[in-house]
Amino acid sequence: MSLDLLKKELQYVSHKVYQKGYTQATGGNISVRIPGTDHVLIKRSGISLGEVSREDALIVNMNGEVIEGQGKPSKEIGFHLGIYKVRPDVNAVVHCHPNYSIGYACLGVELPLPTVTAQKLLGHVPIADAAPSGSKELAQHVTDVYTKYPDIKIALMKNHGVCSVGPTLEAAYNVVDLAEATAKQAYILSQLRVGEKSAVTN
Ligand code: 13P
Ligand code: ZN
Repeated sequence: MSLDLLKKELQYVSHKVYQKGYTQATGGNISVRIPGTDHVLIKRSGISLGEVSREDALIVNMNGEVIEGQGKPSKEIGFHLGIYKVRPDVNAVVHCHPNYSIGYACLGVELPLPTVTAQKLLGHVPIADAAPSGSKELAQHVTDVYTKYPDIKIALMKNHGVCSVGPTLEAAYNVVDLAEATAKQAYILSQLRVGEKSAVTN
């Protein structure tokens, strides 16, 4: 895929994440490897995913240095590059703040997977320890989870959000889409169980 098409895809997926309500304000960041190079395209820091244009996709090298583009790369560049280093199969990373998934991330538990679809397609959704956004500690915690569980497609980030991966941007987006739907279904199920209990005791 040409660089221009890749930038277009980053813009398209950024808008989709925002429009689906999977992040708010200027939260979230997205990156993709540039095929055949040691470079990565990543969203510039501080811009809403809903407003990302092709000019907001910066080219960086594996040390996080900007090779092309204006502005600073996302402050979460540390875990994006950390994941690419430990997962050669991963070509795209999506970090965002979806509400139901964040509920479980704030509880500090792994994402429950009540449906056969989630069990089959997500497998296991562990949780990375908390640290301030943009910190080296957070980059380490997220990279550690992807190192410890080399098959995962998405992790919760305690008190913060989620971070998904895929062979393409579209695949990484779909993982977020399914994980957030699964978190909502798990929440509904937990409420139904509460209702069921009180129906028995009343
Ligand atoms: P950036 O705007 O620097 O990408 O940060 C957004 C975010 O979600 C931080 O965790
Ligand atoms: Zn964030």
